[in-house]
Amino acid sequence: MNVIAPISGSNDPVESGIAAYLDEIIALRRDLHQYPELAFQERRTSKIIASKLSSWGYEVATGIAGTGIVATLKRGSGEKRIGIRADMDALPIEEATGLDYASNNPGVMHACGHDGHASILLAAARYLAETGNFNGTLRLIFQPAEEIGAGARRMISEGLFERFPVDAVFGLHNWPGVPTGQFGFVEGAAMASVDQANIRIVGKGGHGAEPHRAIDPVLASASFITALQSVVSRNVDPQEMAVVTVGSIHAGSASNVIPESVELKLTMRAFNERVREQLKERIPALARAQAESFGALAEVDYRLGFPALTNHREETAFAREVAIDTFGGAKVEIDFKPRTASEDFAFMLQAQPGSYLFVGNGDSAPLHSAHYNFDDVIIAPAARYWVRLAETFLR
Ligand code: ZN
Repeated sequence: MNVIAPISGSNDPVESGIAAYLDEIIALRRDLHQYPELAFQERRTSKIIASKLSSWGYEVATGIAGTGIVATLKRGSGEKRIGIRADMDALPIEEATGLDYASNNPGVMHACGHDGHASILLAAARYLAETGNFNGTLRLIFQPAEEIGAGARRMISEGLFERFPVDAVFGLHNWPGVPTGQFGFVEGAAMASVDQANIRIVGKGGHGAEPHRAIDPVLASASFITALQSVVSRNVDPQEMAVVTVGSIHAGSASNVIPESVELKLTMRAFNERVREQLKERIPALARAQAESFGALAEVDYRLGFPALTNHREETAFAREVAIDTFGGAKVEIDFKPRTASEDFAFMLQAQPGSYLFVGNGDSAPLHSAHYNFDDVIIAPAARYWVRLAETFLR
């Protein structure tokens, strides 16, 4: 085990309260890490989390969006309700960390730290249940399937906020490259939208030695990919952000055959709907026009994924204040840079006011890397933060 937080001599009751059982939470986090489960298959994970919450006195509703959980705890007569969400799923990655608690499930890995997020929320849950130092309703949301962008949407469509109303909802993500225990807040768009396009450029196959008898879709694709760079540089307002990436290209199998078609897969990111619309309009138009100029055809399947994650102003200001109050200004980055990754908590923030924040994971490998490791040193401060946030919101 790592040596974690300053334990003895702390004057902060939350800090010393959590420190008393931190070892147990870290052991739990490492157990979840050893048995990672993919989106909507988080059965073991969900069962463990639900049983912990029940044992601490929460009213636990399971089976929301399959493996999702909402745990409710009421204290006093206050009418305010806060929601705090953690995700639970892992990724289809073969772990390469060599840790003694590395994944036991071949090809599946907690490479995004959702084992950590769930453990942080459990650490806070236990403290809040044991001390009950709040007046109102606490709702802890354990969400499945964040990695495939489906869990939040499904929980909402299964009546999450009708069955378990909240006045605001909060979530967090650990962030490699930011010092451990450093908190980051962004007002407005904090993470990008994500959309995908599958494009097939269809020409006419033929002999590689007789190109004049064929229509070469490879050349048309090359031209399209080059022209695609003009969408960000020439169409999108230079003050806005957009990403267009061709991540996959497949055609042909022999050097002397002109293939019939080329298949391309693109991902697009943006921070607002206006730019997102613009990409959706320009990319297919460009694909068609470029293909046509070579006598080829472009078939475009443009799939909208999920929107940008947009933090609400008032709730973000509140969340930021709580962090400054708890840890001091030096630990809080009030102008954290928005990230071009995506996060399906975006759907929860479309349904409810709230804010999504970041906690530094130190100098670790990046998220979704086979070498990534969640740093357990974050658990104590992040759990302490959730406690303070809930206590302050439900004063
Ligand atoms: Zn994640």
